[in-house]
Amino acid sequence: MNTKQKDNNYIMHTYGRYNVALKSGKGCYAFDEDGKKYLDVSSGIGVNSLGYCDDGWVKAVSTQASEIQHMSNYFYCPQASDLAEKLCSLTGLSKVCFANSGAEANECAIKVARKYSFDKYGDERNEIISLNNSFHGRTVTTLSATGQEVFHNYFFPFTAGFRFADADIDSVKSQLSDKTCAVLIECVQGEGGVNILDKSFVQELRKLCDEKDIILITDEVQTGIGRTGKLFCYENYDILPDLVTCAKGLGGGLPIGVCMCAEKLGEVMQPSTHGSTFAANPVVCAGANYVLDVVSDKSFLKDVNEKGEYLKQKLLKLDDVKSVRNLGLMVGIELKDKDAHDIAIKCVENGLLIITAKSLLRMLPPLNISRGELDEAVEILEKTLKEN
Ligand SMILES: *Cc1c(COP(=O)(O)O)cnc(C)c1O
Repeated sequence: MNTKQKDNNYIMHTYGRYNVALKSGKGCYAFDEDGKKYLDVSSGIGVNSLGYCDDGWVKAVSTQASEIQHMSNYFYCPQASDLAEKLCSLTGLSKVCFANSGAEANECAIKVARKYSFDKYGDERNEIISLNNSFHGRTVTTLSATGQEVFHNYFFPFTAGFRFADADIDSVKSQLSDKTCAVLIECVQGEGGVNILDKSFVQELRKLCDEKDIILITDEVQTGIGRTGKLFCYENYDILPDLVTCAKGLGGGLPIGVCMCAEKLGEVMQPSTHGSTFAANPVVCAGANYVLDVVSDKSFLKDVNEKGEYLKQKLLKLDDVKSVRNLGLMVGIELKDKDAHDIAIKCVENGLLIITAKSLLRMLPPLNISRGELDEAVEILEKTLKEN
């Protein structure tokens, strides 16, 4: 049996896959089992921040793997402590809690917000307002927090205590009550279609949350770690959230999630309130430390911004492109009258790994992609659009 047959027989069918089995990669290029080359502007959904098998990242991870590969959280882990310190000093947030994925990081944020409110106001104040069109993960509670009806099927009963609002302040206020303990947003909704929230809305939300001691959570699982041209997307909005989650791009390809909190939440979680066997793994943290050192550099981030603008201008010149929405290298492409999913499949056949978000094409290229590689991506997309 080949890879695809085995997958089909032995792996639950939870994904619609492209017809490609990837075997290796270097930089922005991946190779399939037959040796065919692909330019990747998806980064495994924004995960491979530095592309495939970046030399420094491989060295950091493999050196750590040969030193110590795991310890339980009953012991202090130097790599995790280093990473936590870096994250706090780069953001002004005060403490982190480690997880293994975006959904788990969000679960942690939900627990911290609810416990803060429980400790201070008792058990009635537990509702969280999330936004329509959001995506927060696949666990039962993060599905419950996700503001899209299609996710609220099959797996009843869902976790209670979530309300949904549109991305405007009056809509949020209409869902607000003395039971509200938190508001959960993505500053740029990724899975929801690269929807960039208004700066004034996010700032008003920050003010509203301050007035009412409501915890503002930003889910930066997709937007974090340089993706939008700032280390964290909330910086584009000149606010500091109370809780920030991040995951995808942080590990550079290894599974990690973090929930970071502002000072007032630093002591909310105490021993036995939360935990995870694999979280804060030293190999994963070594990779994340490397990624963070590279990505947090000011000129690196400036380049991400400039490349985002460069890519946008090139895409806007294509006949079939109706509009482009981007912050940094988080890019949504609206086509005039072609189906984005069909085009994505055809792009892959033509050697360009690209993904979709709702009815848009989506690009989340490695942050260190070159302008020449962006040119090549646009060329393959243009060719594919012309052929179809
Ligand atoms: C991908 C994503 C998640 C879920 O992350 P997993 O690692 O798949 O659990 C949560 N929130 C946002 C904004 C995401 O993009």
